Amino acid sequence: MDAEYKTPEDIFSCRQCGCCCTGFGGTYVTDSDIVRISAYILADPDNFVTSYCDMAGSRPVLTQGPDEQCIFFDAQKQCTIHPVKPRMCRAWPFLETLVKNPENWDAMASACPGMKPHIPREDLIRIVSREINNRRSAIPADN
Ligand code: SF4
Ligand code: SF4
Repeated sequence: MDAEYKTPEDIFSCRQCGCCCTGFGGTYVTDSDIVRISAYILADPDNFVTSYCDMAGSRPVLTQGPDEQCIFFDAQKQCTIHPVKPRMCRAWPFLETLVKNPENWDAMASACPGMKPHIPREDLIRIVSREINNRRSAIPADN
């Protein structure tokens, strides 16, 4: 029987709602994200974590304002650092962790209305793996 879900569009379509920039609790930034974003906003990369991040364990995540919005989210529902936004934001929701932990998809979908929940495990792993490979040149592994 053919898989019901075959393409990334079958399981995800961004609604442009901005929910992932609000109250989601952790946009990780890598060292290369920090270098890129700092250059874009003309900040000192050595002070980036202190100025724009909180720590989640040993990893920096972008600070949220009192309204729980990402510090780089503006009132017009625009990412103010879109051309250099963190790897995690560019890759969303096709994250490497889902290949090993596909059960996380539904938890992510509860915060992202663009993600269809309850995708069969095999379909999900196949689509996510292929999309990660397809995007590899646009979103290099890291650093
Ligand atoms: S929460 Fe999901 S649907 Fe909404 S803007 Fe973010 S990625 Fe798109
Ligand atoms: S960096 Fe941009 S896309 Fe990522 S959470 Fe912040 S505002 Fe949203």
